[in-house]
Amino acid sequence: MYKIIDGKALAAKMRAALKEEVQAFTAAHGEVGLAVVLAGNDPASQVYVRNKIKACGETGIRSHAFYLPADVTQAQIEELVSSLAENKDIHGILVQLPLPAGLNAERVLGLIPYEKDVDGFSAENIGNLAMNRRTLVACTPFGVMKMLESENIPLRGKNAVVLGRSNIVGKPMAMLLTNADATVTLCHSKTENLREICARADILVAAIGRAKFVTADMVKEGAVVIDVGMNRDENGKLCGDVDFESVKEKAAYITPVPGGVGPMTITMLMHNAFIAAKRSVE
Ligand code: NAP
Repeated sequence: MYKIIDGKALAAKMRAALKEEVQAFTAAHGEVGLAVVLAGNDPASQVYVRNKIKACGETGIRSHAFYLPADVTQAQIEELVSSLAENKDIHGILVQLPLPAGLNAERVLGLIPYEKDVDGFSAENIGNLAMNRRTLVACTPFGVMKMLESENIPLRGKNAVVLGRSNIVGKPMAMLLTNADATVTLCHSKTENLREICARADILVAAIGRAKFVTADMVKEGAVVIDVGMNRDENGKLCGDVDFESVKEKAAYITPVPGGVGPMTITMLMHNAFIAAKRSVE
């Protein structure tokens, strides 16, 4: 019998706990400040930013939103991010991607000091994660670790397979699992014998962006299956990278889409802003 790991419930619980911690910090040191920079009118980005600002409100974090027009120049956005980097009231800086065409995102992100890089995307933070040092961890894989932890799922010595090697999900996920003493295989579009590799996994994390790609024959009996994917199926319905209906019958634990990894991501962003604020007063 499988168990669903309810990301929505866990995220709500974590946000409530975080709110108390943020309140105590605010009383002692002043507000936790998160800057959110949105350039242009991309509708999906507008929704993401709105949700992030809402989550700040729920957790007592002060959001500082900066809306820039689509024709903002490279110099203007760089000037804004540089001033946020210097600002002591701002503990975390988030630049919503993608930036409008013509802007160099790498140069903009490069201006965020790694201590304020709450997305955990910077080379410093990824390098620290690779070396198992103190860092700010990319929110989605960090959320997955919290989900595994919430169910006390043992990782040490286990076979973990990560599908997808993006810098923001797959690679940091593989590093986190490695740091937790799992034996990790990181798969991608060129991987040979993918189905067999997946079928050996005690823990299978799918982050490829292919609707219902992981089918029951790719899953070991009793595996833990974490679905990071966010796709639309043939009827336009939101679905993950895992064929939930067939895979759930073999899995010991499985995450749904929606209501699984998704709600954890923004929660971990709030968590990272709080970590950054705490470190700023050490
Ligand atoms: P991405 O940058 O497009 O990377 C996809 C990865 O999957 C690549 O490494 C690619 O391999 C691999 N891949 C693609 N097709 C494959 C196949 N048929 N077999 C094996 N590997 C394959 O995607 P991403 O940003 O990591 O996102 C992955 C999924 O997670 C998307 O559905 C995205 O929407 C979702 N997501 C969800 C959240 C959340 O909060 N829930 C957050 C971020 C992302 P190559 O490297 O060889 O091209």
